[in-house]
Amino acid sequence: MPENILVAVAWPYANGPRHVGHVAGFGVPSDIFARYHRLKGNRVLMISGTDEHGTPITVAAEQEGVTPRELADRYNRVISEDLRELGLSYDLFTRTTTQNHYQIVQEIFTTLLNKGCIIKQKALGTFSSVTGRTLPDRYVEGTCPICNYRAARGDQCDNCGHQLDPTDLMQPRSRIDGRPPVFRETEHFYLDLPAFAGRLRT
Ligand SMILES: [Zn+2]
Repeated sequence: MPENILVAVAWPYANGPRHVGHVAGFGVPSDIFARYHRLKGNRVLMISGTDEHGTPITVAAEQEGVTPRELADRYNRVISEDLRELGLSYDLFTRTTTQNHYQIVQEIFTTLLNKGCIIKQKALGTFSSVTGRTLPDRYVEGTCPICNYRAARGDQCDNCGHQLDPTDLMQPRSRIDGRPPVFRETEHFYLDLPAFAGRLRT
């Protein structure tokens, strides 16, 4: 009996061309997996697309002096063509800015919320002191509290390999404008992953 196999590949940001390291990381392993299951006679759906939301898009658009939409349109085209010309066998390569994507994402979120699978918790959020916008962890840089490396990132230190939070860094600064970020308590939605642990292990 053929099995249904969903290959859900990582979605690259449409904020610039992808390089060969990305292809080795997300492209080739998933393509090998999908081709193996097709040869085995299984019914495979390998999908991905460009992620066109979030700070990486707005930062790159500001640097190039274009709108986020113009930037995303351009790099969606570049990335899709590159992946196709490399021979990666996506069944669907789409984008996060389609009406279908908005609808599905909102359906998943509201279903999880209504069923009590999403919990709210307060956490310290990182904001730009210049624009007031949120700063993703990797856009914050500072000195590592463990090894004193001066260019550690807000998600990890590349020198000692420890995982960090932006609040752990000494002399934190924004990688966009070099200014110290502001930390404010904000409310976040968290998926209650432990509630799914039994089913996921099975
Ligand atoms: Zn370190």
